[in-house]
Amino acid sequence: MHLPHWLGEFLVQKNLMRFRNSISAFLFQFVNRTCLWVVLGCAAFSISATADTLTVYSARNEQLLKPLLEEFTKATGTQVQLLTANEGALLARLKAESTSTPADVLITVDAGNLWQAGQQGLLQSVSSPLLEANIPAHLRDPGNQWFGMSVRARTMVYSKAKVQPKDLSTYEDLADPKWRGKLCLRTSKKVYNQSLVAMLMNDLGEAKAQAVVRGWVSNLATDVFPDDTALLKAIAAGQCQVGIVNTYYLGRLLDTDPNFPVGLFWADQGGSGVHVNVSGAGITKHAKNRVAAQKFLEFLSGDTAQKIYTDKDLEFPANPRVSADSVIKNWGNFKPNMINVSKAGELQAAATRLMDRAGYK
Ligand code: FE
Repeated sequence: MHLPHWLGEFLVQKNLMRFRNSISAFLFQFVNRTCLWVVLGCAAFSISATADTLTVYSARNEQLLKPLLEEFTKATGTQVQLLTANEGALLARLKAESTSTPADVLITVDAGNLWQAGQQGLLQSVSSPLLEANIPAHLRDPGNQWFGMSVRARTMVYSKAKVQPKDLSTYEDLADPKWRGKLCLRTSKKVYNQSLVAMLMNDLGEAKAQAVVRGWVSNLATDVFPDDTALLKAIAAGQCQVGIVNTYYLGRLLDTDPNFPVGLFWADQGGSGVHVNVSGAGITKHAKNRVAAQKFLEFLSGDTAQKIYTDKDLEFPANPRVSADSVIKNWGNFKPNMINVSKAGELQAAATRLMDRAGYK
């Protein structure tokens, strides 16, 4: 078909326009997207290039840890990236990630767990006069691979309605037949009890420690409990009369109900003293930001962080110059067992076998 010249020109122009429009739309989108990626890329680059970031792997409750991290960032400007999981998963992850781990610091509860991390070669030794001044020698690794930052005391608790403090004395005494059907215990699977029994093994020798654990099992009022809070509530409800717990669990219950009818007794004050354990931290073997990691550990051992440990978590400060929260101060001073907490790690496997032989579930 023959088209008039003017119409042909018009159609060519229109197609060209459409082509030009689609090209410019494409270019516009391309440029736009590219710019966006460039901008994001630049922003991301500037965060990793200029900001001081510390990566922490932690087995501690995130809620308890957050105030510490916020204060650290406030004090130093260093941003903290936090990954929380249970200790087993964190140790496995550190091992698998090896040299490429992003983690600079490992935080966990119980000296047994910290000792394991050290033994598996996941931590590095830290030389810091400040840490050594703030944290007493028995609360840190003898090789300075980890440091206890808060102290947890595992001692005896009793029903105020049925037991007098004068009836109580040592952990061993809870194996006496006078407590038959009156004792409540948490499961032996919990590392806290493995550490407690490890300490008993260290103090009494294996045979005597096993007889004590056997005695405890014979005195149980009921099946072992999954946690310390359930145990404390069982004492309050009259299901049993005595038990062994970490004091901060009682502190939390007293915080909400000052008349909670369970008393605290400092065990073995005439002998080795109360079994203490720690929550603590160490610098990972392959830390990328070693300087900030050491600053963070030093920060945790100082006044501001130690105050948070005791005020928010109701634990005892590891730094002896910082005083404890008022709720836990009411329990008075106690003599702690002074064996190095790393013993709990060393004897943990043997303690677990001993509890198994003694029938402690
Ligand atoms: Fe706990």
